[in-house]
Amino acid sequence: MHWLDVLEEDAICDVCGKHIKRVHVLKDGSREVRAGQVCAQRLCGGKLDRNQASRRTRWLSRQWSIIPTTHFLKIGRTTIEVREDYERPSWYRFYIDGQGSRRHYPSLESAKLAAFENF
Ligand SMILES: [Zn+2]
Repeated sequence: MHWLDVLEEDAICDVCGKHIKRVHVLKDGSREVRAGQVCAQRLCGGKLDRNQASRRTRWLSRQWSIIPTTHFLKIGRTTIEVREDYERPSWYRFYIDGQGSRRHYPSLESAKLAAFENF
């Protein structure tokens, strides 16, 4: 059983039947299970953190939509944007639903990873 992804959407946990807002998609052979965090952790034997690295990699390789100055990512109902700060050229900020990060980041990738940590 390994962790595939975390989606932001309303769903019912396959394991306990409770309503969940954050869906953890797990895979076991050809079977896909969609569970809440507690059930997902139980199914993985509490190993969700170990998959953080691959989750980060997938995050960066996700299909970001790009318009000249901004990278967009839509996850469920949340919009994430990463763009260069007009007031501080060559530094980047991320925006989650229009809410800008307080910090500036030296590259697009570091701003994307920071958005991931804060998402
Ligand atoms: Zn559950």
